[in-house]
Amino acid sequence: MDQEQTPPVTMTTPVRFLPGVGAFRAEKYAKLGLRTAQDVLFFFPRDYERPAPPRSVDKLREGEQASLIGTITDAELASRSPGKSVFGAIVENETGAVRILFFNQPYRADQIKFGQRVVISGVPKLSGLRMEFVHPQLTMLDEQDNYPEPKILATYALTEGVKQNELRHLVGNVLELLGDEIHEVMPERLRGDAADALRAAGIEIEGPLFDIQTAVRQLHQPDNEASLQAARLRLVFQELFVMQLALAMRRRKLTSDLQSPPLSPTSVIDSRILNRFPFELTNDQRQAIKEVSQDMACQFPMNRMLQGDVGSGKTVVAVYAMMLAVANGHQSVMMAPTEVLARQHYQTLCKILADSRVRIGLLCGSISRAERTATIKAVASGEIDLLVGTQALLYGDIQFSKLGLCVIDEQHKFGVGQRVTLRSGGVDPHYLVMSATPIPRSMAMTLFGDVELSTLREKPPGRADVNTYLAHDGWKDRWWAFVRDRLNEGRQAFVVAPRVVPSTKSEEEDADEDESEDVSSVQTVFDDLRKGVLSDFHIGLLHGRMTADEKMATMQEFAAGEIDVLVSTTVIEVGIDVPNATVMTILGAERFGLAQLHQLRGRVSRGSHVGHVCVFSDGDQPPSENERLSLFEKTNDGFELAEADFQLRGPGDLLGRRQSGMAPLRIADPRRDIEILRVARELAQTIIEEDPELDAEDFQDLKSQVMRRYGKRLNLGDVA
Ligand code: ADP
Ligand code: MG
Repeated sequence: MDQEQTPPVTMTTPVRFLPGVGAFRAEKYAKLGLRTAQDVLFFFPRDYERPAPPRSVDKLREGEQASLIGTITDAELASRSPGKSVFGAIVENETGAVRILFFNQPYRADQIKFGQRVVISGVPKLSGLRMEFVHPQLTMLDEQDNYPEPKILATYALTEGVKQNELRHLVGNVLELLGDEIHEVMPERLRGDAADALRAAGIEIEGPLFDIQTAVRQLHQPDNEASLQAARLRLVFQELFVMQLALAMRRRKLTSDLQSPPLSPTSVIDSRILNRFPFELTNDQRQAIKEVSQDMACQFPMNRMLQGDVGSGKTVVAVYAMMLAVANGHQSVMMAPTEVLARQHYQTLCKILADSRVRIGLLCGSISRAERTATIKAVASGEIDLLVGTQALLYGDIQFSKLGLCVIDEQHKFGVGQRVTLRSGGVDPHYLVMSATPIPRSMAMTLFGDVELSTLREKPPGRADVNTYLAHDGWKDRWWAFVRDRLNEGRQAFVVAPRVVPSTKSEEEDADEDESEDVSSVQTVFDDLRKGVLSDFHIGLLHGRMTADEKMATMQEFAAGEIDVLVSTTVIEVGIDVPNATVMTILGAERFGLAQLHQLRGRVSRGSHVGHVCVFSDGDQPPSENERLSLFEKTNDGFELAEADFQLRGPGDLLGRRQSGMAPLRIADPRRDIEILRVARELAQTIIEEDPELDAEDFQDLKSQVMRRYGKRLNLGDVA
């Protein structure tokens, strides 16, 4: 490179100007998200290579980290072309011999001499008949065979053309240059308090949390296991703590800045509402209603999530809350993710409130312009008490006259965390969001740190069971015969397939050749069934590419029993309630998430007939060998499944990160770090109670970090 004086390296120095990098390497590092020196410092290791106690040669396993003590019995430096060399040596002991190789490190020839005693540590590969270590960690032994313990080595995410050792060097270089300049945002007293709280929760930690410089250093280049864990703890805690501070601030903001109408349930109102339901409420429904009523009686907005498995009867709770608002002279709005669902809620409300003075409106894509205009006008004037609609509602220019409550159904379809902005007529409405995707505790605390949770676990009585079967080889004929029997008894059936676009290749030929090939398109399935095994039944087709009107029409035909079998993509996942439908066939089931499968299953457990679900997979692997599908068969409890799914696949699957509205976690994992999360949450709440805007002098850097990460995401804007 040039001979000019290079400017000193700072946190913002682009990676290409770091010693020994240059434009070519920098481009590769950019693929790993490394743009500045700071990015390199905070490029957290993905894992570690831990030195294992020395083994004998015959115990070495390919691909498995191992150490070996031995003597160099052969060593040779060969140069392959100018600037390219390979140094090879044999390490031998009484149990056998292995080869070690170093590429382009000619200095090894001076370091590693015949007769030298060494410890090597690395991951061996079989080459010919001999195990081979490429670039092992190498430690020289003295005459007494004493040696310093081999180090724990960080391993980083890689990308094409970037090697592990290269990254270790890069990080090491930057640590040397800037390690002492990393800015500390957690003042000492906070690190002490946090450590005390962690200890009290049973988490092992000595003294205060590491300062940031030590933590970053030890994370990349740990001295030993204990300091690695201490480093992780400090960084995990910080990440979760910053998030929990943001959530606590938002919660605080909601409860202190916003004014909601207190909507109180008198006993007269309570019994009047309850009388309208044609059944006794379950205990869980009663409890949820109690929690909701208590929230709604406050003069700051309720922010509550009601979670309950499909069919647990969430709508009842929502309807109660809506009527409570109306009884107190306020409007309610209920939003659903699909038109079908909105219409269903509308009809439910109309039925329950028939012959009452409550006026109900519906707004969704397919209603006429004139009707829409009239409804909007009636909402603005206060003539309409209850409004039901789809998301389209959010974008319309709807002005409420006096909105007291906003219910959002199937919240996971919307995106979590963001409150809908509605023109509510001068007050801040209460919020009730409902989700049929149960959220594991740790997840709930992460994403909804500022949301109260009510849960319906028990199902209303009289609900028949669902049997779940994993298809075995050659089951298709048997299964379709079973489906035909149910249809002949007068029941209806769903067939669910993963995709819309028909495959251009035939199923058998390519199923295992091309994973991404679309083998089970609904269209193909539809055609096959109609011409084949179910040709004497009336079959309907439903998928996301149909217009809203087409979808509605098909759903209604199915609900009316005019269609016997509905072949569909997952558009039926939320919504339709057809108690007579009791059989479901899920094709290509390995492509669905657990939560989704469970949602689907919920469609055939609505009535008093026993439901049956059979899952088939597309590829070679039978469903019984798929961990997720086996779980799905084993339990019908949505909460158990959610927890298992969460443990299996992490949070991303349950709620997309993009949807969640939270900053991605870079080092913490709520599954593993649930205890740390709890402590972080409690400490954050305590701090925000005492110092709502983090005004303390020594919290200013911490506050900027909170605002940088979450200010926009959580709308904390005016706190700053
Ligand atoms: P989800 O929680 O999936 O939204 P719904 O609210 O749609 O469930 O309720 C499912 C079905 O159970 C509906 O048909 C509803 O009328 C019925 N239901 C709800 N609560 C009860 C109850 N306490 N007793 C009997 N049936 C109930
Ligand atoms: Mg529902």
